[in-house]
Amino acid sequence: MSRLQGKVAVVTGGNSGIGLASATRLRAEGARVAVTGRDARTLDAAATAIGSETVAVQADVSRLEDIERLYSVVASRFGKIDILFANAGIAKFAPYGAADEALFNELFAVNVKGVYFTLQKAIPLLGDGASVILNTSAVGSKGFENMGIYSATKAAVRSFARTAARELASRNIRVNAVSPGPIATPIFGRSGMTEEQVEAFKAGVSDRVPLKRIGTPEEIASAVAFLASDDAAYITGVELNVDGGIVNL
Ligand code: NAP
Repeated sequence: MSRLQGKVAVVTGGNSGIGLASATRLRAEGARVAVTGRDARTLDAAATAIGSETVAVQADVSRLEDIERLYSVVASRFGKIDILFANAGIAKFAPYGAADEALFNELFAVNVKGVYFTLQKAIPLLGDGASVILNTSAVGSKGFENMGIYSATKAAVRSFARTAARELASRNIRVNAVSPGPIATPIFGRSGMTEEQVEAFKAGVSDRVPLKRIGTPEEIASAVAFLASDDAAYITGVELNVDGGIVNL
């Protein structure tokens, strides 16, 4: 498949989970890819796994100077961006009555501020006709226990997709969100839950998904590649649910 031949893609959080699967898929479809993350070790491994013409840049999306450094590397290596997947994010949970200010600030710094400036600072490099995809979540449209702050960050990102789609439409730049349901990635193990809590969460959530299973990162990557491609040329401003039916059913 070479739907994305000649394109340049940037995937934040491309060293793990959904980002790694998406960067791999975009590369397989012909795009040259820049991936980011904070962990130098997994970044190097990701660049090797994704294959030739892949650039890995260590950059924390909550730090504007890191985002600027990322785009200066992309500008000098590739000269443009055709596909931006603003995917980097964290998930941490607490009941409404127990979340503290540090949790609130951390989630909003990475998931909201990080996405906003990842897109804002890419705009000068986005070619006319580029495709931007923001990673939201099914929880942004639902009311799951303990997920209040995390869910609100994703609802904010869904809103960014609407405004940016409107503002960039005159340059034929499409901006969409992909909204995963529960997907098997390392994210739950990093959320502060114990291993037992993660397993209990996965079992419980599978039961709530109409298709009765957790999704795979590759299933999100398929949707990302679709939105990135000309197959989605008339699609902008949408949130594409890839969630086993959990939002709509
Ligand atoms: P993951 O495997 O934990 O990957 C998260 C990625 O984000 C990693 O590459 C990580 O890089 C990066 N990241 C986190 N904080 C960062 C920061 N401050 N600066 C730069 N990179 C940062 O989890 P995932 O499930 O693939 O999550 C990817 C996205 O999907 C997130 O936005 C998440 O909210 C969303 N999502 C996931 C699910 C799900 O069920 N898995 C469902 C809905 C939405 P490092 O490892 O280097 O920190």
